[in-house]
Amino acid sequence: MTIPPELAGATLTIDLAALVGNWRKIAETVSPAECAATVKADGYGCGAREVAQALWQAGCRTFFVALPLEGKQVRDALPEAIIYVLDGLLAGQAEFYIAHDLRPCLMDPAELTEWANATEGRHKAAVHIDTGINRLGLDREQAEALAADAALIKRAGLCLLMSHLASGDNEANPSNASQRDRFTSLRTLFPGLPASLANAPGTFLGPEFFHDVVRPGVALYGGTPLGTRPSPMQPVVSLSAPILQVRDVAAGDGVGYGATWRAEKPSRIAIVGVGYADGLLRAMSWPAQRDGPAKVFIEGQMAPIVGRVSMDMITIHVTDLEGDRVCRGTSAELLGANITVDDWARWSGTIGYEILTSLGRRYAKVYSS
Ligand SMILES: *Cc1c(COP(=O)(O)O)cnc(C)c1O
Repeated sequence: MTIPPELAGATLTIDLAALVGNWRKIAETVSPAECAATVKADGYGCGAREVAQALWQAGCRTFFVALPLEGKQVRDALPEAIIYVLDGLLAGQAEFYIAHDLRPCLMDPAELTEWANATEGRHKAAVHIDTGINRLGLDREQAEALAADAALIKRAGLCLLMSHLASGDNEANPSNASQRDRFTSLRTLFPGLPASLANAPGTFLGPEFFHDVVRPGVALYGGTPLGTRPSPMQPVVSLSAPILQVRDVAAGDGVGYGATWRAEKPSRIAIVGVGYADGLLRAMSWPAQRDGPAKVFIEGQMAPIVGRVSMDMITIHVTDLEGDRVCRGTSAELLGANITVDDWARWSGTIGYEILTSLGRRYAKVYSS
C-alpha cells in the first residue's frame, strides 16, 4: 500500500542519488575489484527494489540478500542481475532458487551435496568459508576436503569463494589481519575461483581485503562502516514530520508516560507523531543512553526529546527555540542533513544497521534522485 504524505504521520525520503554516490565512491576505491551491493532486509529498510534498480542503473551487477524470498524480490526488479543468497540453500528449496536464478552461498557439506544433486552443475553457487567469525562457513578441514573433490566443485557450480569479517569496523583489531591471511591461504586451495571477503568495513581496510568482489551494505545507505567513527558516506535517509500540537506546561508538571521529565520552569512542548512503532526506539527517551538527550531539528535549531518515547509520538522541549514559527504543522527533521542514523544509534545504545532496518512501515516513502 502506498501511503500518501498528507495522510502519514511522517515522510521518509530515500535519496537515491546519495545512495548511488556512496556505491560509486566504494567502487572507485576497490577498482579493479567488482563492487556488488548487499540489499538484504529490504535494502536495509530503504526498499530493496528501488535500491537495486538505482544501483543497477549505476552499473552494479551483483547483489547479496539474506533469504531466497528477498532474492526473488530483487529478481522481479532485475531480470539480468547476479543474486547471491547469504543464508545458503534452505533445505529442500533448490527448485525455488533454480526457478528465480538465485545463487546460494553454500556453507555446509550436506548443503553442498544437496545443491550438487539438484543442479548437476547447471546452476551456480558460492561457497562460504569461515575464517574466524564462527558464524556461517565451512571450517578449514571441510574446505580442504572440498578442494580435493573437483567433481563436487563442478557439480555444485561453484563460482565464488567467500568469507566474512568479524571486526572490520575496528581497524586496530588484530583479527582483521588474521582473517585476511587465512583467506589468502585458503584461496590457494581453489585456484581460478573468484573470491570475496570485504563487507563495507572491509573496503576501508586496504587492497589486501578487496579480492575480486566486495559486498558493502550499510555504507551504501549512509551508515558508518567505521564503528564509532563518523560516517565518511553521504546520508541517504531523511525523516520529517509535522508538529501535531504545541502545548504550554507549568513549572513542576511532568511530560509523558511516567512523567520521567518535569518542567523546571513554564515550558513549551511540541508533539510529533513518530514513536517506537516507527523505529524511533524507546531507548531514545529522555535522558537517552549516551551523548543524550536525543534531539530533533526544528526551524534551524536542535531541540531535545523529553519524557518517554511513546508508541506513536515524541514530546520535544521547544521553549528555547527562537521565533514563533514552532506551531501545529511546522516540519520537524528527525533524520536528515543535521541528524544521522548513527546519531539515533548513539542515543539509543545500538548501531546504525539496527536503526535502518527498524525504520517503520507506516511512513509515506519518497524516493528522490
Ligand atoms: C550483511 C553482510 C554483508 C554486508 O555487511 P555491511 O557491514 O553492511 O557492509 C556482507 N557480507 C555478509 C556475509 C553479510 O552477512
